Amino acid sequence: MTKNSKTLYEKAVHLIPGGVNSPVRAFKAVEATPIFITRASGSRLWDVEGNEYIDYVASWGPLILGHSHPAVVAAIQQTAERGTSYGIPTEREIEMAELIVDAFPSIDMVRMVSSGTEATMSAIRLARGYTGRDRIIKFDGCYHGHSDSLLVKAGSGIATFGIPGSPGVPEEIAGLTITLPYNDGAAVRAAIERYGDETACVIVEPVAGNMGVVPPQAGFLEELRKVTAEKGIILIFDEVITGFRVAYGGYQTLAGIEPDLTCLGKIIGGGLPVGAFGGKRDIMEALAPVGPVYQAGTLSGNPLAMAAGMATLNVLREETPYSKLEEKTAYLCGEVDRLLNEKGIPNHVNRVGSMFTVFFAPGAVFDFSSASASNTKLFSRYFQNMLAQGISIAPSQFEASFVSTAHSDEDIARTLEGVKKVL
Ligand SMILES: *Cc1c(COP(=O)(O)O)cnc(C)c1O
Repeated sequence: MTKNSKTLYEKAVHLIPGGVNSPVRAFKAVEATPIFITRASGSRLWDVEGNEYIDYVASWGPLILGHSHPAVVAAIQQTAERGTSYGIPTEREIEMAELIVDAFPSIDMVRMVSSGTEATMSAIRLARGYTGRDRIIKFDGCYHGHSDSLLVKAGSGIATFGIPGSPGVPEEIAGLTITLPYNDGAAVRAAIERYGDETACVIVEPVAGNMGVVPPQAGFLEELRKVTAEKGIILIFDEVITGFRVAYGGYQTLAGIEPDLTCLGKIIGGGLPVGAFGGKRDIMEALAPVGPVYQAGTLSGNPLAMAAGMATLNVLREETPYSKLEEKTAYLCGEVDRLLNEKGIPNHVNRVGSMFTVFFAPGAVFDFSSASASNTKLFSRYFQNMLAQGISIAPSQFEASFVSTAHSDEDIARTLEGVKKVL
């Protein structure tokens, strides 16, 4: 049998649930079956059949420098020759901490972990341990990894207790999570008036990226900062996507708002498994071994992951590609919007920096319910035809796509040619 994506997928589903190690990769939301990749370089991916794709998924965000950037590859190779893990401190971990602390004014201390899920899960435990309170507040459509407290959906009505977002999440745990509509300052005020004294933290994506890209409306994050400070509630910015993506110091430096804790991941690992959480010294020192809140990891601060992440951050610090990335992405989004409008296809393109989503939505998208008004059938056809044109975008209407420094003007032009043909 010849090796192609279809035969590999048929084999994979017997051995791995759904054939994939993370559900969205199964392409179910776009009524397709996954392609299997053999290699990648710069802005391009190649599948097992030799098809070439311009990639806007970027491993879901980490690869802001594109695939196999020479500085990142060299850092991994040189590090591997000296051993891949010691479980004993290294100087590199100090250097990584310094890079993060220097980039984020709100971060005095940082702890490295191995995924974004671990970062948010640990930040919430820390917030609960530090405040001695159990309730947490999150926003509908924001994703913070898959730990029990955070895999919670909105109940019916505003400011109701959450319901489990998956079988296996106990109702008792989901019930401690209050889920509110994104961009709804009044709902936050009402919830905090009622439950503020029992609430440990508010966790938010300062730019939502996991219901598709949804920027914060003017005043929303300021309101969160104000009401949490009044009640001694810890404000957590989940910048796992936005950290080092929308600006070197994350969205918080653009907005000029200092959260108490920040979660990072994706870009800081340069394509290797990494997360981190950090913030104010007195909160961070509640963590073991200084304080009583337990958190640990066999591979935390892993040398390979530190090397890949630091190589990425150093390129970003030296080259500050952000305005150029923004310019390229704004042009791409503007043209896609124009092409869709010419065809009379209802759409709304949301973009912040180099992250964007083309919503096939009838109106503005500012929260989960307005995002949900999108025509997902139309998106599926758009996705499938784009893929056939050699352009890989996120396989769901409710995900972000990313432009990297490796995308050339020619890549963007070819992408727009592809969009034209697809429409
Ligand atoms: C990806 C993501 C996470 C989870 O990170 P993993 O490394 O997949 O566990 C958490 N929060 C946000 C905002 C994310 O985009």
